[in-house]
This record gives sequence, C-alpha cells and structure tokens, in this order.
Amino acid sequence: MVSIGSQFSTGDQTSKESFWRSGFKVCNSCQKQCIKEEDHVAGCRHNGDGYGTTVFTCTACGWKTSFQYDEASDIYYYETRNFDRVPKKVQPQPWSNLNVSNWLQSSGISATALKKLQEYAISGPDMYEMTDKKLKALGFEKLDRYMIMHVKNEKMEKHQEK
Ligand SMILES: [Zn+2]
Repeated sequence: MVSIGSQFSTGDQTSKESFWRSGFKVCNSCQKQCIKEEDHVAGCRHNGDGYGTTVFTCTACGWKTSFQYDEASDIYYYETRNFDRVPKKVQPQPWSNLNVSNWLQSSGISATALKKLQEYAISGPDMYEMTDKKLKALGFEKLDRYMIMHVKNEKMEKHQEK
C-alpha cells in the first residue's frame, strides 16, 4: 500500500447534496456552471485502487466543496451513499407565497394580524408548517391564532381531498 497523504474535506460541507444533485456542475453560491475539479490522491492499494479527495471549485466566485473518493468502493464518491436523487422537501404548490398571501387576505383574519404576518415575512412554506405554538411565540392574540389555524386547516383539508 502506497500512502501519499490523507483524505480530507474542505470548503462547504453542508450543501454538498444539492451540488451532487446538479451533477457536480452548478455552484451552490452563484449558480454558475464553471466548476473546476482537482483530484488529490491520498494513496493507492496493492491492486491499484486509488483513493483520495476531489476538490470542486467555482472559478467565478471561489465557492468550493470536496468529495472523498475510493476506487474500491461500490460508490466512487462514497459520501453520497445516502443522498436522494429527488429533493426531500417539495412544498405543495398551493403553498406558494403568492397563493398564501391572496388566501390570507380573503380569509377574514384581522388587519393587524395580517400586517403582523407580513412584517414577519411569513411565507407560504412557513405557513404550511405553522403551529399555534409558533404563532403564540410570535405574539399573536388568541383570537387571531384561532382564526389563522382555522383557515389553515381548512385549506389543508381542501388540498388533501384533491
Ligand atoms: Zn460560484
């Protein structure tokens, strides 16, 4: 076994999954497709299988990430083993920001509550996950909370019926 260095990780490690999903092509920071890749060999086994780290760098903004590889592994970039081809959290379309703000305005909740929701920039996906507890934490009055949760549940039931 020839050991030259060791495998390492560098750069952004938290959003690797979406970068991988783009086929290692799209920069997670500036969305441009000018990624340069460089292999850093860490070692080589007797049978010739090498292992090391590939560093991907965006030549436009400098964003970088890395994936460790092993030629003996069934998955070359073995850190991607548990990644999903499809993004996990796809929000249902009825909860887009536009739909939610239109719906809130016609829902009959008080003008102050509506204004507060807008001040907190509570978006469609936020509203989808909204709970009475969260509204309380944000300082909504009991009646407003009741109204908001009521119209929200109504909307969810309607969506599920389809
Ligand atoms: Zn970039």
